[in-house]
Amino acid sequence: MNIDLSRRSFLRLSGAGVAATSLAAMGFHEAEAAEAAHVRDFKLATMTETRNICTYCSVACGVIMYSKGDLAAGEKAELIHIEGDADHPTNKGTLCPKGAALKDYVKAETRLTHPRLRRPGSDRFEEISWDEAFDKIARAVKDDRDANLIEKNADGLTVNRLTTTGYLAASATTNETAWATWKVVRSLGIVGFDNQARV
Ligand code: SF4
Repeated sequence: MNIDLSRRSFLRLSGAGVAATSLAAMGFHEAEAAEAAHVRDFKLATMTETRNICTYCSVACGVIMYSKGDLAAGEKAELIHIEGDADHPTNKGTLCPKGAALKDYVKAETRLTHPRLRRPGSDRFEEISWDEAFDKIARAVKDDRDANLIEKNADGLTVNRLTTTGYLAASATTNETAWATWKVVRSLGIVGFDNQARV
């Protein structure tokens, strides 16, 4: 029997049964139903669940983000709770204090949500679109690679090294994303490659 009753509740609920002839007549199933009847619905039952990865460190724990709002109906989602993903093989539902405070990170007023650029000669950053940011990065990498790729070393051996562009990746990612990132960076010949976990 799966039931959590105080001694007082147990005695009250089973009182009628005690009046009967034996413990078997106490009607535990009725007590269980009575207990369940006053348990409120799980508060997150109607929320939208989104699986994600904690952004803080290379452990990359799985999280479930709960939000209000029906996205399918065009409503805007509002994040109300984040907890560890019990089905995730890395953390199995647990989160460290940083991960447990993720909602504050997501909702922080100082959080950057768009790329920012400080143009030459300017004393301030301005928000730019993701398209503009990607175009600028691609242009800069291409121009630098065209100008500075080292194709052969002093012994004439092909090395294809690019030492004038560096790449800083996030470690909070899946194996698949990390694999793709590694392939892109190394295929460009970039030598200076690091991330927050230094792996
Ligand atoms: S919950 Fe803690 S241990 Fe897990 S990824 Fe986030 S910061 Fe790292």
